[in-house]
Amino acid sequence: MLDLLIKNGEYPDFEKNSLKKANIGLEEGKIVYIGEEEKPALKVIDAAGKVVSPGFIDIHMHEENFAGEGKDYVISRMMLRQGVTTCVGGNCGLTNQSLKDFKSVIEELGGAPVNYIMLSGYNSYRTSLGLGHFDPITKEQQDYIRERIKEDLEEGAWGLSFGIEYDPAITFEEIVYACGVSDDENLLAAAHYRADCIGNIDSVKEMVDIQNHISQKFQISHLSSCSAIGQMKPSLDYINEAMEKNPKLNYDTYPYNAFSTHIASTVFDDGCLEVWGKEYNDLLLTDEPYRNVRCTEEIFRECREKYPEMLVVAFVMNEEEIGMAIANKNGMVASDGIINNGNGHPRAAGTFPRVLGKYVREDKLLPLTDALRKMTLEPAKRLGLESRKGVIAVGADADLTIFNPETVIDGATFGDLETPPQGIDYVIVGGKVAVQDNAFVDERLGRFINFKEQ
Ligand SMILES: [Zn+2]
Repeated sequence: MLDLLIKNGEYPDFEKNSLKKANIGLEEGKIVYIGEEEKPALKVIDAAGKVVSPGFIDIHMHEENFAGEGKDYVISRMMLRQGVTTCVGGNCGLTNQSLKDFKSVIEELGGAPVNYIMLSGYNSYRTSLGLGHFDPITKEQQDYIRERIKEDLEEGAWGLSFGIEYDPAITFEEIVYACGVSDDENLLAAAHYRADCIGNIDSVKEMVDIQNHISQKFQISHLSSCSAIGQMKPSLDYINEAMEKNPKLNYDTYPYNAFSTHIASTVFDDGCLEVWGKEYNDLLLTDEPYRNVRCTEEIFRECREKYPEMLVVAFVMNEEEIGMAIANKNGMVASDGIINNGNGHPRAAGTFPRVLGKYVREDKLLPLTDALRKMTLEPAKRLGLESRKGVIAVGADADLTIFNPETVIDGATFGDLETPPQGIDYVIVGGKVAVQDNAFVDERLGRFINFKEQ
């Protein structure tokens, strides 16, 4: 007797690049049957007219800050409701707490809404040494950080990440040295670029160069916010060519024409608006006392000083270039979602349904199966998990998202993270229903996944 039978739905067959109709049977957290029979089951979901996708894998997001904001899940609930079943945190060089503490809170809370995979954040260790954004690092300090990263790898981290733009003193050599912590080619390294690509693609070139000097698979983080300011075409040409030579390289990108980060970040240092050709009014604040307020110079300066952690949304990217990065033959969809104090950019709550509703159905920039591949199989392959996740196959983990391709769309907007997406009917984690019609059924089906399980 199956635990759950999902009948009459269509699932993505990535080998044939098409949807295939089948009944799918789940038992003990695994997919155990794919075929035409209507096997007996304890529970049946009729998915006629729906797509039964592998659960989405968000390979670039920012995990909860349990240390600063309390032991509660905020962003991973938003993730789960949009169909994400596995998340990779610790990106952009930033970790909100030690990996040990993160794991123990998940344990204490009896699981997590999603499965969590973590990277070790280089910048967080750099900052912990008292180094400012522009302070060069000594050899001893680099060795100290490498030791800490090594400990994280022993704790089960899947690799390391950098936020070069956040600490511009970080050198190319420093990155390569840090990656020398391990020569395991199955590990990941990811970096938020050095500077926006304006007038040239030097930042993209630097990151491709990093890939050629390290063992890990390297990932260019949120390419849209780097290059969708006039340099997406040359950036993609360069990356596509580099990937042909070295397939360990890849990038992730999100479907919005605005980025978001902390207001005191070096990203907003003097001169940024001139470089982008934008005004203070193009910056939206996300928290009190200026929640949903557009900046003036005065408010901007006040917030940078008084509320350095406040997230600000910057409308500086070109929509056409956002679409190019998503539709490109390479690349993965990822949210870069970040929530501070319950507030932030809607990408944390709407990235995946937005790609399926806007870029696939409405704008017809790419076929549905290509989009699904970029949010399931591709990230699973990067993680070396493709036999277990990112595919509908007998023996694979039963992490599934059932959605209506005719109605799926994001609900969250700038200023409103609460409105749920539409068209996500079921999210299933480990064979059990976690979300049904936007309502949480079980928020503790996810767990921490250790690299050693790869
Ligand atoms: Zn970043």
